[in-house]
Amino acid sequence: MRYAILSDVHGNLEALRAVLADAASRSDGLLCLGDSVGYGADPVACVEILDRRARAIVAGNHEHGVAGLLDLEWFNGWARAAAEWTRERLDDEHRAWLGALPLTSEVGDATLVHASPEAPEEWEYLVTPDEGWAAFPFFATRWCFVGHSHVPGVWSLGSSGPEFEPRPVTVVGEAGRRYIVNVGSVGQPRDRDPRAAYAVWDVDAARVELRRVPYDIEAAREKIVAAGLPRFLADRLTVGT
Ligand code: ZN
Repeated sequence: MRYAILSDVHGNLEALRAVLADAASRSDGLLCLGDSVGYGADPVACVEILDRRARAIVAGNHEHGVAGLLDLEWFNGWARAAAEWTRERLDDEHRAWLGALPLTSEVGDATLVHASPEAPEEWEYLVTPDEGWAAFPFFATRWCFVGHSHVPGVWSLGSSGPEFEPRPVTVVGEAGRRYIVNVGSVGQPRDRDPRAAYAVWDVDAARVELRRVPYDIEAAREKIVAAGLPRFLADRLTVGT
């Protein structure tokens, strides 16, 4: 079994389509780590594709914001404007579906969570080496897949000591080691590589590949501007920040 693991699609349909095309020959199923909406101009299309295709989906802070479960005061100005715009475009059924997603899910020997396995609803970011290593006691599986920071990377713990790779890498699981993998963002990468990011988890080979996929950034940019969303949300796609 091979899963494509997607996070932080953020209403970017062009990026989502490119990732699904790349994943088609490389995976047998789809998992989603939340923040499917917010920032991009196609929240409805992205929600409907992920609802239809994903075997498991967990909620992100943007789902909770749009569904009314998280005060929009929590967000910065750009994110709040995008959340308000997105909320108006979704109907009651979409909002109810987003609000009903679980905060965590287990698939085989992996935990799925948007932010941190320690108190997922507090939306803490795992960024530094220590922040990642401190999260290991809060999940029981060998693998934990996260998103939220939009920066791909891998933390691991085992008898030979802690390790951290703050970049897209391919990991082959070693006996006795456990892993937290940030799969990066499909729709709004922030590691200065504007290509869409996602992971392929080969369960039997205990192998995770963090992939990058070029997509039509200009089309996604133009839709954001035409929708009347903040121009900053369009421009950051070009530089991947
Ligand atoms: Zn996000």
